[in-house]
Amino acid sequence: GGRDHFAVFTPYFRRWQATGLRAVMPAPKAVRVPALDSDPLPKRADVTGVSPGLTDGGEAVGRERLAAWLRAGIESYEDRHDDLAGDATSRLSPFLHFGCLSAVELVHRAGRKGGPGAEAFVRQLVWRDFHHQVLAARPDSAWSDYRGRADHWRDDSADIAAWRAGRTGYPLVDAAMRQLAHEGWMHNRGRLLVASFLTKTLYVDWRVGARHFLDLLVDGDLANNQLNWQWAAGTGTDTRPNRVLNPLTQAKRFDRDGAYVRRWLGADAEGTEPVVDLGEGRDRFLRGRGQQP
Ligand SMILES: Cc1cc2nc3c(=O)[nH]c(=O)nc-3n(C[C@H](O)[C@H](O)[C@H](O)COP(=O)(O)OP(=O)(O)OC[C@H]3O[C@@H](n4cnc5c(N)ncnc54)[C@H](O)[C@@H]3O)c2cc1C
Repeated sequence: GGRDHFAVFTPYFRRWQATGLRAVMPAPKAVRVPALDSDPLPKRADVTGVSPGLTDGGEAVGRERLAAWLRAGIESYEDRHDDLAGDATSRLSPFLHFGCLSAVELVHRAGRKGGPGAEAFVRQLVWRDFHHQVLAARPDSAWSDYRGRADHWRDDSADIAAWRAGRTGYPLVDAAMRQLAHEGWMHNRGRLLVASFLTKTLYVDWRVGARHFLDLLVDGDLANNQLNWQWAAGTGTDTRPNRVLNPLTQAKRFDRDGAYVRRWLGADAEGTEPVVDLGEGRDRFLRGRGQQP
């Protein structure tokens, strides 16, 4: 389309599928590193601000997780990836982020497995590539709108604090935010919802949310985080930039029996008073985007 990159996922995906995939590189026999004097690495317990429920990292753990995923998991991915309580996604993102596992290897191995689950999984890996090629072509999109919409974001510190703490009073939003605080990771369906809630319902600048995610996510990654935030805020590559996810409808669809909310909210799952005012932000969002509230 005359651009230096793909701005829409589907044509990118088609080109990606038509492009050959290189073989997996063998591990090098030895890696030469310069001799450095270093302080000892801190232990996890010595580092403050780490999520208490963070899982272990490293290649060995990543490979075990990958093997388990290919054995039992990937097959039902297409049907179950949006089931919040089912937690039926691969959880390989931290290992991909830190380079413990290679995305090329994942594509080869999923391809050998075959079937709709594997195809859907590979498609998600292509989203990862897609965002990287957008950021490579437009490095400014890390912190500036990819497609500006002349938004006048609300700067409401009480709403922002409630969102960060998982205390908005909207159970699914709060459950997802508490999963993030505890695990340093959040289910994709939760990420989509809390990002839509912050940017379109509360009409708070996506950069506020992206910053908070980068502070806490163990897979926090400039390309995937910022460009997914922009997608959710409608300033990015979403071809329907004004769609708003409703937390109640999302709960009915993706947490039908409330198991995810109960897992993360405990006693608060019975319901707390909403502390954020939905009306003001949503109306301003709609007016800002040239629509009738
Ligand atoms: C607001 C927001 C912020 C996000 N921030 C990040 C981030 O910082 N780092 C990150 O890796 N992902 C991010 N994602 C994408 C996605 O939520 C995570 O990759 C996914 O939840 C990780 O879980 P998983 O490994 O079980 O994913 P699976 O569903 O098993 O998918 C397999 C892999 O595909 C890739 N992938 C899946 N969905 C996406 C996507 N939408 N965009 C790009 N890659 C994807 C990831 O590498 C993932 O590990 C974000 C999404 C949203 C909506």
